[in-house]
Amino acid sequence: MQDNPAPTLSVIIPCYNEGENVPLLFGRLLPVLAGLDVSFEVICVNDGSRDDTLDRLLEVQTGEPRLRVIDLSRNFGKERALSAGLLHSRGQAVVPMDADLQHPPEAIADMLAKWREGWDVVFARRDARVGQGVSERLFAKGFYWVFDHLSDVKLPREVGDFRLMDRKVVDTVNRMPERSRFMKGIFAWVGYRHAEIVYRQGERAAGTTKFNSLKLLRFAFDGLTSFSNFPLRVWGGIGAAISSLAFLYIVIRIIRTIFWGVDVPGYESILVSVLFLGGMQLLTLGIIGDYVGRVFDEVKGRPLFIIRKLYEPGGE
Ligand code: UDP
Ligand code: MG
Repeated sequence: MQDNPAPTLSVIIPCYNEGENVPLLFGRLLPVLAGLDVSFEVICVNDGSRDDTLDRLLEVQTGEPRLRVIDLSRNFGKERALSAGLLHSRGQAVVPMDADLQHPPEAIADMLAKWREGWDVVFARRDARVGQGVSERLFAKGFYWVFDHLSDVKLPREVGDFRLMDRKVVDTVNRMPERSRFMKGIFAWVGYRHAEIVYRQGERAAGTTKFNSLKLLRFAFDGLTSFSNFPLRVWGGIGAAISSLAFLYIVIRIIRTIFWGVDVPGYESILVSVLFLGGMQLLTLGIIGDYVGRVFDEVKGRPLFIIRKLYEPGGE
């Protein structure tokens, strides 16, 4: 439906209730892109915003034919919005970034320079986290530690989704079929040769963060279980250890009973072991349940996202 030749650069921006940020974002992004001397497209994925994000994007589009807007049918979450953008991007180099200007568009120039040197992926590493409290930082640290130890892929530190990817990397990511889209993990899993630039993360331009602690916790757990089977396997080992201990205890009790007779006090030890084993079993069931649920989700094979409408410039 579009006959423009494929641009060199695609910038992908997932937007969820970012109405206030849209004018600020384009006010800064477009001059930067214009100064880059490459052909570009900007793809904004409206992730079911309940404010005027879509209207404002379409407003920008009337004056900027290189803006393409993907309007999802509801809120699918940032990871899937990003997947939608990646799937529709056509650029030789693709840069996902946030709509709140925490990712400075100016850094794209440095990334492009590295890309031209022949790197497939250019990470943008933030030199400090902005807008996060101590507990969030600790949580992030803990998450990375656990993730590194449990999964086969290593996540680069302080690198978010803001990065540049060559077309072949994006094509690989687009071929990954899983529904549970932990993009940081997926990006790391596909590999390729990477270089790095450092940027200073800004404050959110307007509005508030779209992630609360519960959403973050869910996100972290999702990431962990999609990239590691360890939580599933560890219970086998723990179960075996506890069963051996229990067996030993049984033998001791039998010998005691044979030589010293029945021992009435001691029912509490039975209670303790029953409760303990029951608890362990419930925990194990819960973990197995989580993986079974994931298999269920994959087997259903539902689409990752649904596009309500694709707003291409010039086409109605
Ligand atoms: N976002 C999205 N869908 C969501 C939540 C967030 O598309 O369900 C977008 C949001 O509009 C922003 C980016 O993801 O462009 C990052 O969100 P935010 O700035 O709230 O995250 P933080 O910087 O606090 O981690
Ligand atoms: Mg942000």
